[in-house]
This record gives sequence, structure tokens and C-alpha cells, in this order.
Amino acid sequence: MTTSAELIEVSERRSAHNYHPLPVVIHEAHGAWVTDVEGKRYLDFLSGYSSLNFGHGNEKIINAAQEQLKNLTLTSRAFYHDQFAQFCAGLGDLTGKDMILPMNTGAEAVETAIKVARKWGYEIKGVAADQANIIVMEDNFHGRTTTIVSFSTDPDARADFGPYTPGFKIVRYGSAEAIQEAIDDNTVAVLVEPIQGEAGVLVPPDGYLLDVRRICSENNVLMIADEIQSGLGRTGKTFACDHEGVVPDIYVLGKALGGGVVPVSAIAANQDVLGVIKPGQHGSTFGGNPLACAVGNAVIELLNTGEYQERAAKLGELMHARLRELIGKGVVTVRGRGLWAGVDIDPSLASGREVSKALLARGVLAKDTHGTTIRLAPPIVISEEDLLSAIDKLADAIASF
Ligand SMILES: *Cc1c(COP(=O)(O)O)cnc(C)c1O
Repeated sequence: MTTSAELIEVSERRSAHNYHPLPVVIHEAHGAWVTDVEGKRYLDFLSGYSSLNFGHGNEKIINAAQEQLKNLTLTSRAFYHDQFAQFCAGLGDLTGKDMILPMNTGAEAVETAIKVARKWGYEIKGVAADQANIIVMEDNFHGRTTTIVSFSTDPDARADFGPYTPGFKIVRYGSAEAIQEAIDDNTVAVLVEPIQGEAGVLVPPDGYLLDVRRICSENNVLMIADEIQSGLGRTGKTFACDHEGVVPDIYVLGKALGGGVVPVSAIAANQDVLGVIKPGQHGSTFGGNPLACAVGNAVIELLNTGEYQERAAKLGELMHARLRELIGKGVVTVRGRGLWAGVDIDPSLASGREVSKALLARGVLAKDTHGTTIRLAPPIVISEEDLLSAIDKLADAIASF
């Protein structure tokens, strides 16, 4: 057997250092539990940044993937295939939208939304050529492409990757007034995360999404909700926008849409918006492939039961109640919604990374973000007992500093 130390050494030597992984080498996983190469078990509180909402090795998703692997994996969009119609109709019904444009990664779906909004702006809204602007938020995270990092406010994500794509206006997250002030006749869209995940699970003030919706409607501007991390059950509803009864013009989806099996992303919008895209104007060799659609169909079926949303809401309340008990005991604040939390650790005690390492030693996988925040997002299938034991371990890890 190869030891984890050896595998880590080769991984570090032979891969680009674009990540800084915790020192654990995972070999297998089921539900909320992962096992490393040495046989030690951990509870997964990162869930592939919410890609594993339905748990590792979810039986229905794996069965769908295995069945599809036997039949057909790739056609390209040059032809139809028999999983495509159900995927588009099913995701359209889940989002309440007419049309789907499938891609693979989240960043590609965000890029798709940007392209669609610009085209809509020129062809439908009547913005003069090349004058369109899109309003985005400070501390956003929408992916890693050159256009997307152009409007990032995180120096690590952005610095030295210029020249940058123009056409974006950055405003403060959580302030409807800031959007109102930034909007002009050339604004085609407002791109917003209903909850900012990478920024530390930042929940905007109550009524913010409703205000964004109203301002967009009043100004003939598309509201684009990046629900890649917040959507598909994580917050206790199908979409985080649902908490305010808000329906964006474009949903951007990814992560859990691929069931933790394959990258599947998509945007969902009505015909009056997505209809602007004609053959040859956008695409992806792998977008909407048969395996992706079969997995996506299984995910949509799971969401249609409503069980996961309900479970995330119920377990989320329990998790947040327990986490709030840690405030003043090494925890400064707790934010989040559903089975999703950002926990700010007292910076005088330890960094987020140090706490993550202490959690790792206690059998819980979690990841810090922005220095002193630990984000917690276990698979929604986690048992109540495992959830509570992990929070006890977090309390113990913090108390060790
Ligand atoms: C992860 C994420 C993305 C990017 O998705 P990738 O699949 O990594 O390209 C975009 N937006 C949000 C909100 C995300 O959490």
C-alpha cells in the first residue's frame, strides 16, 4: 500500500499549487462519511462545496449513472439523445422556466448567463453595440474564467490575470440602494448570489432579494441568480431565492446538479430571454451529454420529492441552534441558512486553517475561507447523530486553542 505521506508528496511535486489541500488522502466515501487511504473515517462537512448535497454514492444517482454508462455516454449536440428532453423539461419544471441551456462547470454557466444577458440587451432591450453593463457584487464568487475574475474583488482571484473584460459595475452586496444608483440605460443584468458562499456564507438583509427583483423589473434589467452553491436543497428550499418568494429571470445552476458524479451545469430562463441564442452562437462539446443528463434527471427526481429540502431545513435549524451555543466560546458569529453555515472563529485564538486541521484530527472535514471563517455544509443525508457529533468536535477543536 502507498501511504498518504507518499501520495501527498507526489501530488505536491507533480501538480500546480492552485489549491492548498488539508493533509488527508481520501479513498472512498458513502453518504456523509469518507475513508482515507489508511482506513481512518471522517464526516464530510464540505460536500465538494455543496456538490454532494445528496451524499456520496447516492444509490439513485449512482444507479442512473451506471445504467447510462452501459447505453450511451456522448453524442455531442450535433444529434439528439434520449436523456435530453427529460433533463430540459424536468429542470425547466423545477425552476418554473421555459428553457434550459446545459453546460458543464459552474463558471461556464455563469459565462452563458453573461452572454445571454448581453445578447438580450442588444437585441431586445435595444442597448447600443458594445455598451452593455452588468452589475455585480463585492466579494462575489462566480468562477475562475478570465471574464469572471475580471469582476472579482478578491486580489488572489484577480491579480496578474489582466487585461480584464470590461462591462461590469461592482456594488456593495446587500445594498439595494447601491444597485439603484449604479443602474443606467445600458444595464442589462444584475448578477447576484442569493447567499454569498465563498465570501463566508453571507446572508443578505431580509428583503434584499425582493428589492433586487423589483429594481430589475422596474428598469427592464435581467435578474441573474447564481444558485450554483445555494441552490438545489442546501438552504432548506429548492432555491435560496425561494426564501423571499423571488423568481429571477435567469437561474444559474451547477455543483449538486451533477450529483457529485459528473460536472453538470445549466442556466434556466424563459423563451423571451433564452430565445435570443440561435444555432452556432453558444455551445459546449460535453454540455447536455447523455451521462450528465441521466445523472441530472436522477437529481431532479430526488428534488421533486421535497424530502431533501425539508431535511436540510430541519437539520439546519438544529445545526444553527447548536452553533449559536458556541458564540462567546471561541466563536464570534454564525451565519447561514438551512444546512449551510459560516462560523467566524475568534482570530485571537486560531486561524480558520488551524481550526480545520484540528477538526481533521478529530475526524471532520471542513474548509476555512477568508482567514477565520469555517464553512459547514454536510451532505443533506447526514444523520442527526452524526451532525451533532461533528458540532461537538468543532467545540472541542476550538477549545483546544
Ligand atoms: C462554485 C461556484 C461557481 C463556479 O463553479 P465551477 O464548477 O467551479 O466552475 C460559480 N458560482 C458559485 C456561486 C459557486 O459556488
